[in-house]
Amino acid sequence: MNHQQSSQLFAKAKTVIPGGVNSPVRAFQSVGCDPIFISRAEGSRIYDVDGNGYIDYVGSWGPMILGHCHPKVVEAIRQTASDGASFGAPTAREIELAELVCAAYPNIEKVRMVSSGTEATMSAIRLARGYTGRDKILKFDGCYHGHADSLLVKAGSGAATFGVPTSPGVPADFAKHTLTATYNDLEDVKAIAAANQGQIACIIIEPIAGNMGCVPPRPGFLEGLRQLCDQEGIVLIIDEVMTGFRVAYGGAQERFGVRGDLVCLGKIIGGGLPVGAFGGKKEIMEKLSPEGGVYQAGTLSGNPLAMSAGIATLKLLQQEGFYQSIEEKSAYLEKGLLEAAKLSPVPTCLQRVGGMFCTFFHPGPVYSFADAVKSDTQAFGKFFRSMLESGINLAPSQFEAGFMSAAHSTEDLDRTIEAAARAFQSL
Ligand code: PMP
Repeated sequence: MNHQQSSQLFAKAKTVIPGGVNSPVRAFQSVGCDPIFISRAEGSRIYDVDGNGYIDYVGSWGPMILGHCHPKVVEAIRQTASDGASFGAPTAREIELAELVCAAYPNIEKVRMVSSGTEATMSAIRLARGYTGRDKILKFDGCYHGHADSLLVKAGSGAATFGVPTSPGVPADFAKHTLTATYNDLEDVKAIAAANQGQIACIIIEPIAGNMGCVPPRPGFLEGLRQLCDQEGIVLIIDEVMTGFRVAYGGAQERFGVRGDLVCLGKIIGGGLPVGAFGGKKEIMEKLSPEGGVYQAGTLSGNPLAMSAGIATLKLLQQEGFYQSIEEKSAYLEKGLLEAAKLSPVPTCLQRVGGMFCTFFHPGPVYSFADAVKSDTQAFGKFFRSMLESGINLAPSQFEAGFMSAAHSTEDLDRTIEAAARAFQSL
């Protein structure tokens, strides 16, 4: 496969953009090759500037659950754009998307739109602190909730890929308010809560950790957090930026039957445009400005184009059998990948919830970040490069999930499985 144009663009990009990219993992640093530059995408396919096509399991890191360029989403954006891209004033579309979100998540009584997942989690934490009058927050090792200062502590994803669990530039005075616990270890959380009684504003969690691969909650873990938060007056923030409208229409909370006091959303609710949202119980959301004193704002919040793309996307997700179909395709791929992985000299384990999955180069099971980091990242890099050469686009890091879309065909899945068999064998 020829990547000449991509290589040239990367060299040029590095002269004007730090590392040549606008988000670190895109630089492919941990997989030992240069990134591909994308020219367009359609359905399950993404095309690079050299004209190579790939079956895409990144899906813009989750949002493209319908596949790329769904005609109804494109049309909604086109129509809205002709009325004006942004007004910085309220519009009816914001109510429509808010109503769709509230209907899907019964614990979201009110919701505020923002422009990224980072803004959603950062704002939800400020609100939890304002509501409780407490400063400390608790997050889990290997969970990523965006790059706000207090959250860049033991974060997974890009931060894990680059081995920078805490970033320079985050004052120690901020980081000291962030407590970290081991994912799937309720006893650890209880011990930390006991040692910090009356001081923890919120526990924030990825209900399925997608920023250390794909790590589901063990039975009883989320339930235990819910109970602890109720006992201790701690706000439970469920970060469904990745899992919301992904693992079920009502997200991981619907799937596991545990509800947060606040919920963060992003990715899918914007249909590929920049959107995030946070919402929850009325009594907490009412503390938000202008009703309450906790300040939060955004020039482009509730942006008309983003609202339209989100509304069109969510309406399509309501089709009968949509999630069943994603489940069936993902199960088919899982079965094929498991068979192919038998050819791998390096032990692997595949973990999946609905349309999100990860092959760890580790015998597994992976319950926590400490388990995930034992993966053979060299083997992953080799596997990744082989898949790319076979026309399969995976996330360029061991610590990321793959995403299924409605546009993937059985032929796509078979091609993926064949490519994986070759890639595993070559290790
Ligand atoms: N929370 C989770 C669970 C995420 O996966 C991400 C991004 N991958 C974020 C928050 C941050 O979202 P954004 O990149 O839109 O700021």
